[in-house]
Amino acid sequence: MSAEATGPVSPGAPRKRVRSRLDLRRLGRAAMRGSASRGRLPDAIGHVVEAHRAHYPDAEIDALRRAYVLAESSHRGQMRKSGEPYITHPLAVTLILAQLGAETTTLVASLLHDTVEDTEVTLDQVRDGFGDEVCYLVDGVTKVEKIDYGAAAEPETFRKMLVATGNDVRVMSIKLADRLHNMRTLGVMRPEKQARIAKVTRDVLIPLAERLGVQALKTELEDLVFAILHPEEYAKTKALIDENERGGNPLAAVADDVRNVLREADIEAEVLIRPRHFVSVHRVRMKRGELRGADFGRLLVLVNEDADCYGVLGELHTCFTPVVSEFKDFIAVPKFNLYQSLHTAVVGRDGGDVAEVLIRTHQMHKVAEAGVVALGNPYAQPVSESEEPAPDGERADPTRPGWLSRLLDWQQAAPDPDTFWSSLREELSQDREITVYRSDGGTLGLPAGATCVDAAYAQYGAGAHFCIGVRVNDRLTTLSTALRDGDTVQILLAPRETGSGPDAEWLDHARTPAARIAIKSWFAEHPDRREAPESAEPRPGLTVAGARHSAANAVVDLPGASVRLAGCCTPVPPDAVTGFAVRGNVVTVHRVGCPAVGRMAGLGRGPVGVRWVDSASCRVTLTAESFGRPHLLADLTEAIAVEGVAIVSATVEPPTEGRVRHTYTLQLPDAARLPGLMRAMRKVAGVYDVSRAQHRAAATS
Ligand code: MN
Repeated sequence: MSAEATGPVSPGAPRKRVRSRLDLRRLGRAAMRGSASRGRLPDAIGHVVEAHRAHYPDAEIDALRRAYVLAESSHRGQMRKSGEPYITHPLAVTLILAQLGAETTTLVASLLHDTVEDTEVTLDQVRDGFGDEVCYLVDGVTKVEKIDYGAAAEPETFRKMLVATGNDVRVMSIKLADRLHNMRTLGVMRPEKQARIAKVTRDVLIPLAERLGVQALKTELEDLVFAILHPEEYAKTKALIDENERGGNPLAAVADDVRNVLREADIEAEVLIRPRHFVSVHRVRMKRGELRGADFGRLLVLVNEDADCYGVLGELHTCFTPVVSEFKDFIAVPKFNLYQSLHTAVVGRDGGDVAEVLIRTHQMHKVAEAGVVALGNPYAQPVSESEEPAPDGERADPTRPGWLSRLLDWQQAAPDPDTFWSSLREELSQDREITVYRSDGGTLGLPAGATCVDAAYAQYGAGAHFCIGVRVNDRLTTLSTALRDGDTVQILLAPRETGSGPDAEWLDHARTPAARIAIKSWFAEHPDRREAPESAEPRPGLTVAGARHSAANAVVDLPGASVRLAGCCTPVPPDAVTGFAVRGNVVTVHRVGCPAVGRMAGLGRGPVGVRWVDSASCRVTLTAESFGRPHLLADLTEAIAVEGVAIVSATVEPPTEGRVRHTYTLQLPDAARLPGLMRAMRKVAGVYDVSRAQHRAAATS
């Protein structure tokens, strides 16, 4: 009995699929039959060796044979729930990985992956027989397999799983193949158990497969989950696909046209029709309502050289009408999970069908299907000098892609497992990731929707607390700016000793758990800073507290007095302030240190208690003293704009001895931003002082 026949459904079975080297199902079935019906060693492991040699013609397979002998003898007598000998499971898992192009060590560990957990075999035996690497991988998979996805153990065990993965992502490759085989054979389980396992697959394993770029596993897992959790939608989709196949495939004619065009252009290319998987057909139907024949698949053009990809694109866009909005270049800007391809869509020559086209090299295709599984042995010596680690650490280690590194970094920073777990689910639920370029040439992978705050923390970690501004594509902008794929980002940092720490508002703009956790823990360590903005009342302005000090001349009814901010010292929250009753029913408010306060007291005027109601919106006048230079005005106003501050008026006095004084009256959305704003202005080249305006003329009022 084949694995597939015991499954609840066979999504791929009725379809004519392209029989590529990556057709897992066909060889999966063959291996199962081989081991179950004959049980002879050469046939059972023979399919694995054959699949492995297709990718690695010179592979040394002695360890593979020995691993099979150990696994087979130690599992002997154990049965799967389906009634098959247990060894069929590690064999099928190993075959999946061999098909994807996994290197030998992964396959050896995969054959042994259940021995330590389920048999008498010990880790020491595995180490003695197969070495440290295999031992490490088997141990990692054993730990991952012990994970109970029940609620209580979930966060902490998932953490451990990621730690195991982070050291060697091959552990996760084995886990994914293991899950695929278990999903294929899920039909023997009770329906509730099927649903529970399908949900975990949907929530955790499929996002991981996506992140690791293992498209071949991801799509099959998606279809298996779809069939279990949405049987009616699945049946409807299957009926549509069957019906479409009976009607002949309109993509075939487009494919022929494309082949002719490329032949005339003398570009060597393979043009294939790739049926969409069930979930993909379902998604297209949800998006467009009705499906046309050409929607059931896509054309796949495989070429030899990177440059040929653009050659093919040029020919297609010349000889057919392109749908320009569908064009995406994932070669120039690869996706986070290593995926590379050109995507476009063209209108068929009869003017009817729109065909989506994927263009990639054979190597890109292998990576697109198998992701990190195809990237070989991470411990192998680099074959050339050029394979030095990338300066930013991103993608430097293909077995530990960028998102995984970040995940592991912030899992260490997360204060407790619950925070980690809820953040992780959020991270995994993000649909896709964008790549932005750092000004120093490195790259940052970020979830879609990430802002400059996220980029700052992704690049500098806790150092981003001292971020004072950012340039995106060479333009100064606010930290709240959302980033797009391909943007160039330059984070501007204050010297640490002058930095004031993050702004509470950053939390509103942080999309990544890493940034949020870092900002929150900073505020946890600086409770004084957190209180200020949050305890403020929502209304702007000042209130007169009452005539607490109104001893001497008393004055008129103070609680109804109107308030005026003194022009001499332009007080802003949270300045210590004091008030004086002046003509009629007006109280002027001065900063406590203002010379006018002393004069008023000297005149016998009693101070009136005043306090800030709100630290929000306020107006302030700042003077910047600078050495004169070209573009100074532009740079200063830019620095002000970056802080999110509006300029009400600006005065530039004529230069004296090469020095200039700029006076700005500014409207701050939040007075708490004033220190940051002044720092940002002082950082502008040529500026040697920025201070709050002191109008001598006003001091007599
Ligand atoms: Mn297993």
